[in-house]
Amino acid sequence: MQSMVAVTYVVDIDTSRAFYELLGFREHSAGRAATSAWLALQQNGHLVVLASTRPPLGIPRLPLLFYFFFDDVDAVTGALKTAGVEVTPMGHPPHALGGEAKVLDPDGNTVLLGQRERSASQPPAADDVASPRFSLLKEAAALVEARGGTTAACQVNDVHKTPCQKKAEVKLADSEGSTVWACLAHADDILVMVPGAFIVSQDDKGIARFLSRRRG
Ligand SMILES: [Zn+2]
Repeated sequence: MQSMVAVTYVVDIDTSRAFYELLGFREHSAGRAATSAWLALQQNGHLVVLASTRPPLGIPRLPLLFYFFFDDVDAVTGALKTAGVEVTPMGHPPHALGGEAKVLDPDGNTVLLGQRERSASQPPAADDVASPRFSLLKEAAALVEARGGTTAACQVNDVHKTPCQKKAEVKLADSEGSTVWACLAHADDILVMVPGAFIVSQDDKGIARFLSRRRG
C-alpha cells in the first residue's frame, strides 16, 4: 500500500471543516456536484475527506470515528476548548502516555485525540485528579481529616508484599463486612480491583447505632 485516505460522510461540510481545522487540518482539494460534495483536508501528508450528499445519508453515530495522534495533544485540546468544543480528558492509557482526550465531531461521532509519549515538559500524569473515583476518595479523605484524621498506616501491601508505609487516609468496606484503612493510591487500587468495595462514609453513624435505637 502506498497511502490511505479516510472518508467520512457528514451532514454539513462547512461545519465539519471548521471542526477539523481546529485539529490542524487544512484544505487540500474540493469538489461539488448537484447531489454531492466533498472536501479533502490534509495535515502532514494525512488526508481526511469529508463528503456529503443531498439528501443526506442516514448514517448512525459511530462509537469511534477517528483516533488522531499528535505531538502535542494539549495544544490541540487547548485550541478546541478556546473554540467552545467540549473536551473530555481520558487520562494517560498505555497507548497515549502523553494524554488522551475525547471530543464529538459536529455529527456527534466520537473522535479521540492522543499523544503517544509523554513529553519532558509535561507534568507527571495527573489521571488521579481527573477521575471521578479519585475525587470521591479525596472528598472522603478530607472528611476523615476534618474529624481529626487517623494515625493508622495504610493496611495494604504493595505488589512485592511489602507493607505500605504511607499514612491511611480513607476507610473502605465491602458487603462481606471487611474493612481496610488505606492510602489514596491503594484505596483507588481496591475500588478498581474489588467491584463490591466502597468508601465508608464518615457521616454514617453505623448499623450498630440504628439497631441500638430500635432496642430502646
Ligand atoms: Zn498504601
